[in-house]
Amino acid sequence: GENTVTAQAEHERAVVDAVPTGLHIAGDWRPAASGDVFEVEDPSVARPLRTVADAGTDDALDALTAAHEAQESWAARPPRERGEILRRSYELIHERIDDLALLMTLEMGKPLAEARGEVAYAAEFFRWFAEEAVRIDGGYATSPDGKDRLLVMRRPVGPALLITPWNFPLAMGTRKIGPAVAAGCTMVVKPAEQTPLSMLALAGIMAEAGLPGGVLNVVTSSRPGEVVEPLLRDGRLRKLSFTGSTAVGRLLIAQSAEQVLRVSLELGGNAPFIVCEDADLEAAVEGAVQAKMRNIGEACTAANRLYVHESVAPEFTRRLAERMGAMVVGRGTEPGVEVGPLIDEDGRGKVGRLVGQALDAGAKALTGGEPAPGDGYFYAPTVLVDVPADAPMLHEEIFGPVAPVVAFSDEDEAVAAANATPYGLVSYLYTENLRRAFRISERLDTGMIGLNKGVVSNPAAPFGGVKQSGLGREGGRAGIEEFLETRYLAMPAS
Ligand code: NAD
Repeated sequence: GENTVTAQAEHERAVVDAVPTGLHIAGDWRPAASGDVFEVEDPSVARPLRTVADAGTDDALDALTAAHEAQESWAARPPRERGEILRRSYELIHERIDDLALLMTLEMGKPLAEARGEVAYAAEFFRWFAEEAVRIDGGYATSPDGKDRLLVMRRPVGPALLITPWNFPLAMGTRKIGPAVAAGCTMVVKPAEQTPLSMLALAGIMAEAGLPGGVLNVVTSSRPGEVVEPLLRDGRLRKLSFTGSTAVGRLLIAQSAEQVLRVSLELGGNAPFIVCEDADLEAAVEGAVQAKMRNIGEACTAANRLYVHESVAPEFTRRLAERMGAMVVGRGTEPGVEVGPLIDEDGRGKVGRLVGQALDAGAKALTGGEPAPGDGYFYAPTVLVDVPADAPMLHEEIFGPVAPVVAFSDEDEAVAAANATPYGLVSYLYTENLRRAFRISERLDTGMIGLNKGVVSNPAAPFGGVKQSGLGREGGRAGIEEFLETRYLAMPAS
């Protein structure tokens, strides 16, 4: 009844209001120097949710000063202590998982169950890197002529700028913060302007877990260029780790050139999803639903193009349309909702444009093909067939719940189509034939491959792309390398 509605609204308000206010600099919370704030919106109702501090250049430089000043003492902290702070943060995240998930649903839109899944996944990076912190080591060698001793040492690269996107507000942060903390780097974090609340909440949790002031500074801003570029051009910064679009990544490489920064980039994707004639069709449909609909299709790893062998394409497409057409669209806080809103009007506009272009060029929608009702930025889960090869949606990230299915007749054709993109993040392959699985996998030009699996992300794995999908890897053993320098000391053997 009405009382439950009011109680729910009050609970949501309390969780949003509990997020610390201001910029997090040198352990303090303070307003922007200008006093400016900007609105964060709830995309499921298209209404303002809360304001946060709107940092400018001076605030960003203050954050870098704090990180720079904390760098030496932080690097000197015993690795086990750095690991224990991550471990304690992991535990606190789990204690607060309900509130963190609700906060994420409110600012980003994904259904509560998925938000809980992301919070737990985000925490796993802290658990993983808590253990990696104590495994940083070097090497020792005698030179080939026997005349020198060489001692190889590792040390943190130095203050890092971590920039995160809105689609996974917490996990894209912890995947960087975890290894940075473990390696002994201090940092300035700039979350996406659409979803800063999850990151502010995380900063509060990490302070509570014992992270010293100045190690993790958070700068929220509606004008990312004004806070990012001055830091990239300031010699005290040593590292950029960015997750976001390829266009912005390219710009930031150029800006990082002046100070020759270490750069890691996790950029866009255009994942092919290949279903061979010998695939387990039920598993392939389930995998496609996961790879396409996880995070409402707003994922760099989202299946963007489904290439299905012509002998099974009609059956596969029929089943996929049945599954996707039955999914419940709505506000992510409502029980039973599987598909939330897109992030904003621009996001929905882009999806609408791509679908419109495909339909105009002769594609047919088996389900969906239009916005879904509601105040928020909802779009109906959509399955398209007869999409022409030059339709823009096969070449750009759709970033929405739209699955174009293209039939193929032989393996070479599928591989060529899969690789015909400047992106190279992930591909998916469904086949029961072991030889074919390896043969095709070896030819796919992507950093990751899901073999009979629709979700590849794992804290123990080196996540990342080839070609224009990025530089460097996050997670696994590789993740901490991005935040370490290798040096050596040479001395005479006698
Ligand atoms: P975006 O590039 O617009 O924004 C990402 C971040 O960059 C945000 O924090 C934003 O404020 C900041 N930014 C934007 N313009 C900037 C500028 N001129 N200077 C400095 N910073 C700037 O991307 P988005 O829309 O937030 O995220 C979606 C994109 O992220 C998609 O392309 C998606 O594929 C990609 N992504 C990649 C991965 C991966 O691991 N490869 C993961 C998630 C998302």
